[in-house]
Amino acid sequence: MVNQSRRFVRPRQKLVELLKEKGIKDSNVLMAIGKIPRHKLVDTALHHRAYTDSALPIGLGQTISQPYTVAAQTELLELSKGDKILEIGTGSGYQCMILCELGAEVYSVERHNELYHRAKEAMKEEGYSPLLKSGDGTLGWSTYAPYDGIIVTAGAPVVPEDLIKQLKVGGILVIPVGDDKTQKMLKITRVSDTEYKQDEYDNFKFVPLIGEKGWGE
Ligand code: SAM
Repeated sequence: MVNQSRRFVRPRQKLVELLKEKGIKDSNVLMAIGKIPRHKLVDTALHHRAYTDSALPIGLGQTISQPYTVAAQTELLELSKGDKILEIGTGSGYQCMILCELGAEVYSVERHNELYHRAKEAMKEEGYSPLLKSGDGTLGWSTYAPYDGIIVTAGAPVVPEDLIKQLKVGGILVIPVGDDKTQKMLKITRVSDTEYKQDEYDNFKFVPLIGEKGWGE
């Protein structure tokens, strides 16, 4: 039998090449994509699609994000080693592992308890140790605020105020905002205690951000 890890090296490298063609430029982000074993985060029946550029089901009606989306959102964060990053929507743990691999100090919140436990286990197995929490990420995670960056991996109806308040001055929030069909990627930079700058990027399609400051149940 072909060694399971070796079997995925080539498809993972091909995915990196594809993301480069699609416009991802940050070599550190590409290197992280080339390293994280995405196949281990999906059902064995989906292994053959693990390194295609597509979102895949992870149960409970949720998905592991499309690699292009993960790479594009990570690039927008402009993170440096040691930055304190909060992720909302741990899901499979894929995005979280990418952030860890880039040297960030990562905090991540997931509303589904089952996914929280699964992601925790998967990350431990790969040797990553972000701080994880099961709960409503629309309120952020005030205990460890302020953050250099916050990344939201589910589609929000509006920008939750708690999140921008938990940014450091100079910090960046990357969040898809829109309706249930399509969301525009926003990059919001905290310029001062009271001022924020907003840049808009492409449209994406995410599962909904559900919570007190997100969509209803
Ligand atoms: N970052 C994930 C990954 O790499 O697999 C993407 C997972 S999926 C696209 C979005 C996740 O956000 C889902 O797991 C969903 O349960 C979670 N989510 C939705 N609303 C949330 C909330 N208010 N707080 C925390 N997680 C939430």
